[in-house]
Amino acid sequence: MAESCKYIFVTGGVASSLGKGIISASLAKLLQARGFSVTIQKFDPYINIDPGTLNPYEHGECFVTDDGAETDLDLGHYERFLNFPTSQANNVTTGRVYQSVIDKERKGEFLGKTVQVIPHITDEIKRRVLLLGQTGRYDVVITEIGGTVGDIESLPFIETVRQLRWDLGSQNSLVIHLTLVPYIAAAGELKTKPTQNSVKSLLSYGVQPDIVVCRTEYELGESIKRKVALFCNIQPEQVIQSIDAASIYEVPLLMKKERLDEVVIDRLKLNNFQEPDLAGWEGFLNRLQKPKSSVRIGLIGKYVELKDAYKSIAEAFVHAGAQLECKVNISWIHSESLHEDNIEDKLHSLNGVLIAPGFGARGIEGKVDAVKYARENNIPYFGICLGMQCAVIEYARNVLGLKDVNSSEFSPNAENRVIDLMAEQQDIEDMGGTMRLGAYTCHLAEGTKAFEAYGRKEVSERHRHRYEFNNNYREQFNASGMVTSGINPEKDLVEIIELPNHPWFVGVQFHPEYKSTVANPHPLFVGFVNAAMQKALKGKEKQTA
Ligand code: GLN
Repeated sequence: MAESCKYIFVTGGVASSLGKGIISASLAKLLQARGFSVTIQKFDPYINIDPGTLNPYEHGECFVTDDGAETDLDLGHYERFLNFPTSQANNVTTGRVYQSVIDKERKGEFLGKTVQVIPHITDEIKRRVLLLGQTGRYDVVITEIGGTVGDIESLPFIETVRQLRWDLGSQNSLVIHLTLVPYIAAAGELKTKPTQNSVKSLLSYGVQPDIVVCRTEYELGESIKRKVALFCNIQPEQVIQSIDAASIYEVPLLMKKERLDEVVIDRLKLNNFQEPDLAGWEGFLNRLQKPKSSVRIGLIGKYVELKDAYKSIAEAFVHAGAQLECKVNISWIHSESLHEDNIEDKLHSLNGVLIAPGFGARGIEGKVDAVKYARENNIPYFGICLGMQCAVIEYARNVLGLKDVNSSEFSPNAENRVIDLMAEQQDIEDMGGTMRLGAYTCHLAEGTKAFEAYGRKEVSERHRHRYEFNNNYREQFNASGMVTSGINPEKDLVEIIELPNHPWFVGVQFHPEYKSTVANPHPLFVGFVNAAMQKALKGKEKQTA
């Protein structure tokens, strides 16, 4: 057991979607700002091995790590807040836990014993909680338990927390329980009963929370804090208010005001800490809150009803916008709502168009029409993964003049499959975890927009796709002016395409959004927003002329 590492468990009660991920990331940020090395992991109680096979409507975007794990979107928040990569070990589902235990059973490793939830499943959860701490890399590991206390599915996780608290001791572990204190408008009162009941339910599993964080619309006030403290067997300073904030990035500062980090440091007897250095974070927030200009970007996708489906893209715009002191307003456009005859109407007032990643043929033709409009009307264009593939299809159809052009994903027998299944994907039958996943190197050509944005020749970006630019057409594209500005050196795959005779037209086969953080806004998003700002400026000049 990693004696020196401290473990913090974050559970949730009353309702889901209260923001356990943001509270975990905010606490981690504060501890990091005090000089500690911190990581966060998430346990998800569903049976899927990972969210890679889930429809985005189920749990929002699937986030991808450098080592190719398809994970919950909360890992994106962890990385954006901490500016530190997560990995396969940072997201564990019930499915993965059971799979490990069942694999061991098949190998006969349980020596004839009956395999049970307790101790075998809980032992496997324990092993995975301790794994990150045992690397010796972290002073603190924060483990977020998905779901809500009382759910049948999360019981083995809560039982593991109970056992680990006993194993580790009270100075090496603590539990934070996040609840909701609702405001009842008719009575004009905040109500603590749901919090009391939720803590009672946690107690019934043998877990006493050390800290209760109360999500609320209104200030709690001392008397409410005392009441929660009294009924939850803790001191009033261990009751932390988490008031609704305009931006998730304000939460670390709100938690600091509530002294969450101080309570944690005190209870875990952490030493060698400094005053929190949050100058960079505060600077970012200032720029975010006082933009000097604004742009409107159209984000075209087929899951736009659920904003979480494009979480990392939306956050990458927040980071890039703050860097440029520009408010990025996103118009969410459903790809299936686009037709040749309404494109002008829907896109003409935009300062930039982004076509989002996606799978399947639905909505593709609207996306291709949108690319054409952006290309022909000099609207800055950013295509991500499927968005790059659509740009290649559009160019082949309308500039190269090829007939029957498509990606083999949408039309396997098309005459000109300018986007084709990757060679190593040909014989793959399983859907889960089999795409080209994780970080790959990309070499950039000098004198291109990509090179200008990154300012260096070699970059590493994360991937999640099965199809690629078909190299049989490369010369033809290059000869007619489309530049293939980013190439994967190992496999000679086209990773970036762009049009030099356009203000800013870039398509990338990878997902830059996964690597954008508060401390390091992604260069391509910065480049794109900058181009959108120029476009907006020109639009204004035209109006005043
Ligand atoms: N469906 C495309 C592929 O698999 C694009 C994937 C994506 O946009 N992430 O290649």
